[in-house]
Amino acid sequence: MKKEKIERENKNICLDCKSRIEELSSSFELSKSEIALLNQPKRVFTFSVPLRRDDGSTKIYNAYRVQYNDALGPTKGGIRYHPDVDIEEVKTLAFLMALKCSLVKLPLGGAKGGIDVDPGDLSKDELKRLTKGFVREIHKFIGPDVDIPAPDVNTNAEIMRWIVEEYSTLKGVFTPAVITGKPLDIGGSLGRDSATGLGGAFVLHHYFEKTLRKKAVTVAIQGFGNVGGHIAHFLHKWGYTVVAVSDAKGGLYKKEGLPIPAMLKARGTTPGIRGCVQCDSITNKELLELDVDILIPAALSHQITKENASDIKASVILEMANAPVTQEADVLLEERNVTIIRDILANAGGVIVSYYEWVQNNEGVCWDEDKVHKKLKKKILHAFDALLSASQNSSQSMRDVAYKMAIDRILKAEKKRGTLA
Ligand code: NAD
Repeated sequence: MKKEKIERENKNICLDCKSRIEELSSSFELSKSEIALLNQPKRVFTFSVPLRRDDGSTKIYNAYRVQYNDALGPTKGGIRYHPDVDIEEVKTLAFLMALKCSLVKLPLGGAKGGIDVDPGDLSKDELKRLTKGFVREIHKFIGPDVDIPAPDVNTNAEIMRWIVEEYSTLKGVFTPAVITGKPLDIGGSLGRDSATGLGGAFVLHHYFEKTLRKKAVTVAIQGFGNVGGHIAHFLHKWGYTVVAVSDAKGGLYKKEGLPIPAMLKARGTTPGIRGCVQCDSITNKELLELDVDILIPAALSHQITKENASDIKASVILEMANAPVTQEADVLLEERNVTIIRDILANAGGVIVSYYEWVQNNEGVCWDEDKVHKKLKKKILHAFDALLSASQNSSQSMRDVAYKMAIDRILKAEKKRGTLA
């Protein structure tokens, strides 16, 4: 085959997903057709969204939506507003969403989207116009039975409200189930806001109970937004000593444990982390390298790399961000017996409760928070137990087993659809 033709045919391949799948192939037999199917997303949208700025000028933003795999159901995944968003990252995150939904047995596929914008540069009106412009470009390709977006980094319930409004206007019918993570008054679910952090806290606590490890544990958390803030809240409440937290501007440290409730109360009043007078300032680099029992990256991808892996002292890493540990770092940490609880399980609480939100919208019902959180706990721990015992029985890492279980379900569904022999 001519070089240009091969290049053309490979245009949609997700290179990062391909190398993750290749790495698995030594312990997990996949046919050529299965690998080809997994290596690329089903649908990739790249488009531009023009924004009329408040000063009358117009700026064009690059936007993306990737629907990676829909064998298990309509695709699902967040929308991220960040200047580093690019198509390769969106593909990888969409692939991880497909694995996550599969691993926790949701009838959903995986997707992701984003705009390469720093929302801090925009006024609220500009952000609203940009969001509505994004919906106008993509509305034909999303919907309650097709692809259901949700919040991610720098997007929130209010932005989800604008998406429901614009989508409903374009369709001519109020359609809350097109998006999850909405405000309660337009069909959001009780318990969604805290779901990702709570799901991670359930998994971590259960892991320590199961493996009979000491309970008096110290924790450092990178990121103090939705996920980092909620997991800090629950772990502090359950008796864990959270010694450090950080955000994009830096972090705070206190050996005896931070006053998390006061810090959560002070959050958002001014930039940076507040609410602790006798704490030491630390950098994000220092936080990652602290001598703690548990390290929780809950901010961005690729924070632990081959460059800093040997400086990590925590014995357990709970991946609350998506892909915070690179593949190379993963190997180095595994050699040192560091336990990594994978993103596709650790942060699945968000998509599990998003699924419950979508179910409530479709059925026209509203569950109380207790019911939502009980169902979340049962679902995420069921998946975790299955993963832990499969890993112990096969003496393979939890990461490999998680990928295998998730991929296996997707491939079975593809076979039932007739796309694979
Ligand atoms: P958020 O925007 O609410 O918070 C992000 C936090 O990270 C903020 O505190 C921000 O200051 C901090 N941050 C940004 N850049 C940083 C840097 N360079 N160093 C240190 N901190 C930095 O976002 P979120 O919803 O909490 O999401 C955090 C992570 O969790 C993301 O990777 C996201 O994909 C993942 N995630 C979120 C959900 C969800 O339900 N929100 C679900 C699954 C996974």
